[in-house]
Amino acid sequence: MSSGSSSARSSEPEVEVRRSRRRTRTVSAFREGGKIVVAIPARMTRAQEREWVARMVAQLERKEARRKPTDTQLAKRARELGAQFLDGRAVPASVQWSTRQNRRWGSCTPSDRSIRLSSRLQGMPAWVVDYVLLHELVHLLHAGHDAAFWAELERYPHHERAKAFLEGVDWAERAGRSGQDDTDDDDEEGPADSLW
Ligand SMILES: [Zn+2]
Repeated sequence: MSSGSSSARSSEPEVEVRRSRRRTRTVSAFREGGKIVVAIPARMTRAQEREWVARMVAQLERKEARRKPTDTQLAKRARELGAQFLDGRAVPASVQWSTRQNRRWGSCTPSDRSIRLSSRLQGMPAWVVDYVLLHELVHLLHAGHDAAFWAELERYPHHERAKAFLEGVDWAERAGRSGQDDTDDDDEEGPADSLW
């Protein structure tokens, strides 16, 4: 067995094991390029290495799956919601999670029909995420928040509840930020959308 990397079956990730003399106890795993690097203490036995590498790779993959319930799943949900509530009239070209939308829940760019949802929504109830997704889908049909826009969105039964939920989250976050400098805004460029 060659020390360092182990190439596995094609369905498994490429893993490189790095032994470090400076490490005494800690084991860590991270992505570097396309592979997973597992850093372990130099003194670990091969048996310990096998055990820890398997454990850390599985843990990292679980964490990644949780953090990103995948853009594919989000795009699929957008199609379902569009079919159910908008008669399939709003078809986005892309639907993605974004980690850079800290001040809004979602955005829609009608020119390229792209929708982004803030990753802050991940972990919130599905009916809340659905509301934001549907809200952005409606923007493919109506740019502004006019009566026609809300008429479309009111077909979604949880829209009032979801708006209230998000207002509560916003309120709590603003309360938590009070006193801090509020001018630093790293939101990505694009149309602002406050959702109400
Ligand atoms: Zn909006």
